[in-house]
Amino acid sequence: MIRLTGIEKRFSGNPVLKGVDLTVAEGAVTALIGPSGSGKSTLLRCANLLEIPDGGAVEIQDLRLEFSAGRRPSQAEILRLRRRTGMIFQNFQLFPHRRVIENVMEGLVTVQKWPKERARERAMDLLGKVGVAEKAEAWPATLSGGQQQRVAIARALAPSPALILCDEPTSALDPELAEEVVDVLRALASEGATMLMATHDLRLARSVASHVAFLEGGEIVEEGAPETIFSAPAEPRTVRFVRSLG
Ligand code: ADP
Ligand code: MG
Repeated sequence: MIRLTGIEKRFSGNPVLKGVDLTVAEGAVTALIGPSGSGKSTLLRCANLLEIPDGGAVEIQDLRLEFSAGRRPSQAEILRLRRRTGMIFQNFQLFPHRRVIENVMEGLVTVQKWPKERARERAMDLLGKVGVAEKAEAWPATLSGGQQQRVAIARALAPSPALILCDEPTSALDPELAEEVVDVLRALASEGATMLMATHDLRLARSVASHVAFLEGGEIVEEGAPETIFSAPAEPRTVRFVRSLG
């Protein structure tokens, strides 16, 4: 179970997250929807401590860290939590001067201290799984956006994280390339991956998520099953937002 409790975050005194509670059940996928600027990326970044929350707690499996404005977690705590997560960004963020396979091996070799050969085998397996094995020795820039994002997914999966965080994983892609990425994420979900994803992509949220939370102004306004949130939301603000998605 992944549990975010009372997460608060301020930037220069401005509250951006106002005490957010969110859980992701083991093997489930929660989609985080909401207008631009509502705090979705900040919440994902608080879940892996790319941002340190000003209040609340993050719990991933048996590790629970509490935050307050006066207490910064130690670097060891940050790393312990971060190693339980993998992150997929909107703009892929592959290392441009590393070949595709090296991008996937990197964390295994440098962080997890795996022997290179074993890391290479694991990376090849993962590239096969996301359908880009034939690009292993290519440079990232020679791949399509959909292929780059699939490599980024393989990289995030490499250390077998307990939680996969996805920040608008299809937003930078044309519809047909987005479809490739949705297919890969759907396959992961059906294999039991635990994911928290921010997305505007209705097809992604509807076909992959088992739970949807609507965030506005740094607060969860409503959450529930995808059918409920997309077809029969209770809160007027959710109704308006879902309509705006088309
Ligand atoms: P979303 O992902 O839902 O579009 P964000 O989490 O990116 O929203 O941003 C929420 C709010 O926090 C926005 O007003 C944004 O400008 C602000 N914000 C995000 N990151 C920073 C930062 N590093 N410094 C200052 N303000 C930030
Ligand atoms: Mg964002």
